[in-house]
Amino acid sequence: MLRLRNVDVYYGSVPALTRVSLHVRQGEIVALVGGNGAGKTTTLTAASGLLRPKSGQITFQDQDITRLAPDRIVDMGLSQVPEGRLVWKPLPVEDNLLLGAFTRRGQTREVADDLDQIYSMFPILAERRRLPAGALSGGEQQMLAIGRALMARPRMLLLDEPSMGLAPAVTKEIFARIVALRQERGLTVLLVEQNARMALTIADRGYVLETGRVILQGPAGELLENRDVQRAYLGRD
Ligand code: ATP
Repeated sequence: MLRLRNVDVYYGSVPALTRVSLHVRQGEIVALVGGNGAGKTTTLTAASGLLRPKSGQITFQDQDITRLAPDRIVDMGLSQVPEGRLVWKPLPVEDNLLLGAFTRRGQTREVADDLDQIYSMFPILAERRRLPAGALSGGEQQMLAIGRALMARPRMLLLDEPSMGLAPAVTKEIFARIVALRQERGLTVLLVEQNARMALTIADRGYVLETGRVILQGPAGELLENRDVQRAYLGRD
């Protein structure tokens, strides 16, 4: 569904990604793990069109999206949930969700139905729909960020560090929702995580990034058993 081929991304003259190739099949959950500054966020940002690769190709559903504008990529069904959640804190929860549907002009009825579905998936958001987003807990804001991305009716989500700043029990709940989204909606997910163990536990396959390069890839179960991965990324979980 999503494929990166030999993607190079630079910040100025500094390389952030070097010949990164990866793919995500329809209905898969794929984890992208690695330490600080490995290039995980950069990979997602390139896929969502906010950063232009210097070379290489990115395709989504067999169409070349390497040089497409970000809003066109959202229209095609690829939505990013940014790191740090980035909800609009002064705005009510419901308005934050509706912002996610901004590319769906003229679909008032469908948008209202989707809002109901998101409230049934995340009942806490329904309870707090009139509260400013800034009044929500970290876990609730993460649910809101995911809900907002879902309002664009994506076929695939790019999820950046959903566990960031959350207590383990809350992270577990968020991850359970991600698995449910794949089961119930057939959603495809590329999941970026520093919490490699959690990510690989729910993923089908994984890629390990180090200093902007893919150094390992394979079925998630194999990566969890891999000695080098255990030593570098699973030790302190
Ligand atoms: P983290 O978990 O810390 O977010 P990451 O794996 O997501 O790490 P990236 O954020 O993709 O890593 O960063 C990859 C490299 O690019 C790092 O060396 C980082 O310092 C650099 N970098 C990231 N964003 C920028 C930017 N806007 N300008 C310049 N360099 C950047």
